Amino acid sequence: MADADIMVVGAGPVGMLAALLSAQHGLQVLLLEQSVERHLQSRAIGITPPSLEILRSVGLAGAFCEHGVAVRGAAAFGRRMRLGRLDFTGLNSEFRFVLSIPQHRTEALLEQAVLSQPSIRFLRGHQVTACLEREGDVAVTGSRAAAAQFHFSGRYLLACDGGKSTVREALGIPCDGAPDRRTFLMGDFEDTTGWGQEARFFFTARGSVESFPLPDGKRRYVVRTPSLINEDSAGYLGAELLWRAGVDVAGVHQFWESGFGVQHIMARTFCKGRVFLCGDAAHLMSPVGGQNMNTGFADAELAAWLAKVLLEKLAPQHLVLGLYDRVRRRAARAASRRAQCLMVAGSSGGLLWSAIRNLATFIFLHVPLRQLLVQAIGMQSIPCRNLENCRDRIERELKR
Ligand SMILES: Cc1cc2nc3c(=O)[nH]c(=O)nc-3n(C[C@H](O)[C@H](O)[C@H](O)COP(=O)(O)OP(=O)(O)OC[C@H]3O[C@@H](n4cnc5c(N)ncnc54)[C@H](O)[C@@H]3O)c2cc1C
Repeated sequence: MADADIMVVGAGPVGMLAALLSAQHGLQVLLLEQSVERHLQSRAIGITPPSLEILRSVGLAGAFCEHGVAVRGAAAFGRRMRLGRLDFTGLNSEFRFVLSIPQHRTEALLEQAVLSQPSIRFLRGHQVTACLEREGDVAVTGSRAAAAQFHFSGRYLLACDGGKSTVREALGIPCDGAPDRRTFLMGDFEDTTGWGQEARFFFTARGSVESFPLPDGKRRYVVRTPSLINEDSAGYLGAELLWRAGVDVAGVHQFWESGFGVQHIMARTFCKGRVFLCGDAAHLMSPVGGQNMNTGFADAELAAWLAKVLLEKLAPQHLVLGLYDRVRRRAARAASRRAQCLMVAGSSGGLLWSAIRNLATFIFLHVPLRQLLVQAIGMQSIPCRNLENCRDRIERELKR
């Protein structure tokens, strides 16, 4: 007897959502997380409409909307002029906005829901160190506090253990891709701009500034940096915000700051045997563009649903695994390309490139084609963006 129908390794945002979705399908879930406490970093902030639709399916869309800020528009600026505006209110969803909510709050809401779900057994302080696929189940071993060992098994495993996934490594799944040379610095400040719920992008010869409203009167700024500035930026962020966007944060309370590099990495297969890779364990892409965590949410949704299909023996395993790999890889590739385009177009500097980019942006934002950009940022044009939008097609494919 396996310990659970579904084992989920990693209780980041993707793992917790995967556990909730699996429980909603009536499955017994074991959720293992190495850290003893939830981290408090702001990190990913943008939740797009397809993800809100997934969250609605587990009854959480209302709580998320209550705790976040609905960003209904974004304005673009050059150093001295307004280039145009994007309006998200035409998005084809009940949620006609991108929700801005810091990742620690996303995780807090998900954890609260996980803890109230009797069919999820959630164990913190459990680090998985090995994973082995067997005849009728998949087994993990690991260590917990005081060096005690644990052994668990599940009929299927959803690996949501992040970019350095131990499960992926244990199964010998290689990754393709490489780090990007671009680096960024982000900081969350008290919002003194008066820009309300609007996102703003500034494109200058020295690089870009992206700025998003956050709940509780805060605002996120992201700037491209010449090299990785990890901590103690020695006023770099403030100086660049003033030069590039005319935002003076001197004396303004800063809540958080983090430098980050960009990686484009994709696992060569998104599933193997009884294991599905979801979220960062399957793909890493530029955080600029805000697509990675959202892509992970859709991975979790499909993996949980397909695991149920397998448990109920509604389709043969090879068909289900092939479908997951094909569908989610296609979605991740599309999201990664978009994130890359948004990052390169927005963050490249230099006088000539900047002038050309800003002229093109001005024209683009004044013709109906700008709707393509709205769809891209809102992830509406990602193939199979969530189950609600492609369930019929997937069911047909499984019956072939
Ligand atoms: C500074 C920064 C800024 C970012 N900004 C954005 C953004 O603006 N937009 C965006 O979309 N994305 C952004 N990202 C990326 C985003 O945070 C990730 O895509 C998201 O966290 C992925 O969620 P996940 O659940 O797949 O992985 P993770 O959040 O990495 O969670 C993995 C979990 O698994 C646990 N774990 C790992 N190994 C084991 C093990 N062996 N055993 C048990 N548990 C394990 C970890 O402790 C962790 O809790 C940012 C990332 C960083 C670092």
